[in-house]
Amino acid sequence: MNRRSFLLSTIASVALLPPLAEAQEIKSLYTLPPLPYPYDALEPYIDEGTMRFHHDRHHAAYVNNLNKALTPYPELHNLCLTDLIQNLDQIPAPIRTAVRNNGGGHLNHTLFWAIMTPNGGGTPAGAIGEAITAEFGSFAQFQEAFEQAGLSVFGSGWVWLVKNGDRLEILTTPNQDSPLMQGKYPLLGNDVWEHAYYLKYQNRRGDYLKAWWNVVNWEVVNHRFSQKPLDPKSASIYII
Ligand code: MN
Repeated sequence: MNRRSFLLSTIASVALLPPLAEAQEIKSLYTLPPLPYPYDALEPYIDEGTMRFHHDRHHAAYVNNLNKALTPYPELHNLCLTDLIQNLDQIPAPIRTAVRNNGGGHLNHTLFWAIMTPNGGGTPAGAIGEAITAEFGSFAQFQEAFEQAGLSVFGSGWVWLVKNGDRLEILTTPNQDSPLMQGKYPLLGNDVWEHAYYLKYQNRRGDYLKAWWNVVNWEVVNHRFSQKPLDPKSASIYII
């Protein structure tokens, strides 16, 4: 049997199998939220091309792959995404990694768009400003530590400011892991995957981390910080 007829017979035998899960239509359990501002709104700090690819392709892929993973598991359809990613040990093994990566990706990017804005930046005022000064000494010292943490991520990941009980912490996560997986509440995060900056900054991640302060929406971060009680199980914490 030559290669062509082998392939044809393989395809034919697959076609004769009873309907399987692959014929199942993918449910739109989660949807890609629109960007809360135009693609070019964060210029010159984050360029329009990066925003288009990042939102329309990368974030969309996380949503699609999450839906694809969850479709065959109706028992998971009524749980909220924060429940899923905080209880990964209870997710069926065949989709656990997919839920971790794509569910985390969906949550992280939804938060990322929300904590940025054109005309952002500056020194944070209000409760978050006071808490940052109390924890890190000054806003400038916080920025320095956050940038260093962002630079320290080897490969793809995120750098975060989180609330851990009553304390603020800077931490990093690999891949699309969320601080919620450690029981910590993300106040803001910067995406240090190369897809977030490479078109404009190439290998200069440090320049991207410095420029990014100009688009941080401290009003939203302050709102997240002041929410009481913080309910990490509510998906609504991501929709501000
Ligand atoms: Mn990203």
